[in-house]
Amino acid sequence: MASDDAVRATNDDAAQCKRFAVEKGYWQDPFITLLTQRSQNKHAPEISRGYYARVMAMRTLLQKFIKMTDGNCQVVNLGAGFDTTYWLFKSNGIKAKSFVEMDFPTVTSKKCFFIRKGEALLNAIASDEDIQISKSEIHGQDYHLVSANLRDIKEVERKLHDCHLDKSLPTVFIAECVLVYIDSDKTKVLLNWITENFTSALFLNYEQVNMQDKFGEVMIENLKQRDCSLPGVSACASLQAQKIRFTDTGWEAADGMEMTNIYKSLPHADVHRVEKLEFMDERELLDQLFSHYCIVWAWKDPNNIGLGSIDL
Ligand code: SAM
Repeated sequence: MASDDAVRATNDDAAQCKRFAVEKGYWQDPFITLLTQRSQNKHAPEISRGYYARVMAMRTLLQKFIKMTDGNCQVVNLGAGFDTTYWLFKSNGIKAKSFVEMDFPTVTSKKCFFIRKGEALLNAIASDEDIQISKSEIHGQDYHLVSANLRDIKEVERKLHDCHLDKSLPTVFIAECVLVYIDSDKTKVLLNWITENFTSALFLNYEQVNMQDKFGEVMIENLKQRDCSLPGVSACASLQAQKIRFTDTGWEAADGMEMTNIYKSLPHADVHRVEKLEFMDERELLDQLFSHYCIVWAWKDPNNIGLGSIDL
């Protein structure tokens, strides 16, 4: 049985790896230092490059969605951890009607604490409107931070209801390295609930893939040693298995790419810049890592607003 504490701790890892990469110059993010402390560890260049590819690709897809809908849309980040996309996008004039972040209460209360403390974070939410802040939740005009266990669909439903989402508005759901920590049956309930309740929706899922081979076994073993098992790993057997999970739960279609190909599709000039930041003597390790992660995106678009044309 996975310890939820160990799962929640994966957020500290992700946030510290992102901060480390930002400080090395992989990408710019003035908000990450307000949400996480400097890592005690030095991270290998392969790790930072992996995070660079993940962050760039997820943000590209999200930005395409927001642009396509002219901002008349909603974003729901499931297992958001200390993600900073809301602040980065808003400071660049990229806005959705509502941006919701959901995670376990232990994680959202820490995020609440940092938001209260970080003037730039709080000001972006409370610029001109009332804001309600409790110990673990925030409700602003266009930003909501709510606590829920994603395994409990009733709680997810109730918390999204508190955010006054409009279920007829195009809505993108994001899960960045989250679903693998949830039992596959519970994920199915969640994915199904979305398609049953939202008229037009997109799902962006960054997750492990090709986990049936030797390298995958080592990855699973490493997490187990930290008391963190991966009950959702059966859906990560292949890219096809990742897509089927969506088409089996009411999504119209799904597409996706392994990170190996996503990395090749990123803007070449920026990749060139990034590759000069740190010397890497284990290129094979990076290739292995990239072939074990993917992004799958799925859509439901009965009004033909073009969600099926979003890609990298
Ligand atoms: N998405 C963030 C990112 O990419 O930086 C955080 C990723 S971290 C690896 C996984 C996150 O999912 C953690 O914040 C964890 O608390 C959250 N999570 C996992 N299972 C969850 C569940 N059942 N309910 C709510 N949050 C969950």
